[in-house]
Amino acid sequence: MRELDRRTLLWGSAGLVLAGCGGGSTKAEPKATTKGPNIVKPQTGNVVTQADTAALRKQLNEAFASKDVEQLVALIDPGDFALDDVRKRWTRRFDNFKRLGFVEGEWFVGVPTGRTRNASGGLVEYDGDLVFAHQVRGCDAQQVVESYRASFRKKAEDAPLELLHLGDAEAQFDPSIWDVATIDAIETKHAWIVFRKQDAAKAKDFAGRIEQGAKRAFDLMPRPKGVDKVFYAMTWPAVDGKLYGGVAIGEADAHAYYHPFLDPAELSKGQKTPADAKGLPRATGRVGLHEGSFTRPDFVDTACHEGIHVLADQWNSGSGQPTWVAEGLAEWGTNGQSLMATDGGRIRSAFGQFESVALKGYDEFHDSPLEYEFYQCSAAIFAYLEDEKGRDAVFETAEAFYGADDRKAAARKLGRSEKDLLAATRKWVGA
Ligand SMILES: [Zn+2]
Repeated sequence: MRELDRRTLLWGSAGLVLAGCGGGSTKAEPKATTKGPNIVKPQTGNVVTQADTAALRKQLNEAFASKDVEQLVALIDPGDFALDDVRKRWTRRFDNFKRLGFVEGEWFVGVPTGRTRNASGGLVEYDGDLVFAHQVRGCDAQQVVESYRASFRKKAEDAPLELLHLGDAEAQFDPSIWDVATIDAIETKHAWIVFRKQDAAKAKDFAGRIEQGAKRAFDLMPRPKGVDKVFYAMTWPAVDGKLYGGVAIGEADAHAYYHPFLDPAELSKGQKTPADAKGLPRATGRVGLHEGSFTRPDFVDTACHEGIHVLADQWNSGSGQPTWVAEGLAEWGTNGQSLMATDGGRIRSAFGQFESVALKGYDEFHDSPLEYEFYQCSAAIFAYLEDEKGRDAVFETAEAFYGADDRKAAARKLGRSEKDLLAATRKWVGA
């Protein structure tokens, strides 16, 4: 599909759920009295400490480094009902990671705020998020996080922190391409192309065209620091549009999945905090090239369009840029030079309707019979900006909308309302 998944925007709303202490005392911490000096007492009782989480984390990371699934499984309570799922998922992952050779990863274990202490020294048991962070070499300037529902236990003060249960991955990242098949990859200068083993010949056949599309995206877009490749996954009917939380694909042929960079250590404590290191991209993406895209005569354009979505994620704050911004930038970048010559008539006739739809949401844009025209009208906004003010104005506008808290804030930053921009574009296209 040629749109970011709006459901990902809701991702930040999922909260951390803490279970009660299992079997331990529910006695409250002693409260400071008003008498006497105000002495801060050290934490007493059975407390989950940073040393505890560091020890568990070290073991998990050793298991990841060994790529030995039994070493991972051995760290989970043998009574966990989900052990078979863990074994299945991580057997496939380790096998794929070993073959790919360009995915680094590590675990993060945190202490969530709340019931990780038993003042009387008894058992502490709680639910939290166990975070696996990975980085695809060349694509991800920062770590991409996945969190798993997990349960932890510390039996006594001098006992280690144990992993009682390793559960499902948070829906937005589930499944990844490496969870659904035995996969391999081809590296080109500007792309990692990942495919099922049985699609190896097709991947080889299309690698040059995917590279062409990716190269065009890189030639056009400001390059995100630390990034020189776009990640393309060749999908097939059973998983077309179903990776990374899935998306309503409709007639779409390809889709760019948004991956925000969140601080993995904070996430393991239950806090979704942007990993906004200065100068580094705020997010990345993965392209899913659906089976249908490979029969398109404009396949290279599709690879370029999706590549632009991924590179635009460098600005993405996750607040939801208007649909015309995402699609307009990608279409302008793909067809900008020939836009008015090819589609001028359709743009002029649809522009009136587009002006009201552009100010609305995702559904109004995509569910319209004029969807194709709306893509081209969106591109015309950027073609107008380039013509009047140069290419910098194109990226300044895209960045403002991608990075702002909401579209009004973006307009304020630009010093120009969306309505003004649309009216100026209408004049420019001659509608
Ligand atoms: Zn698109």
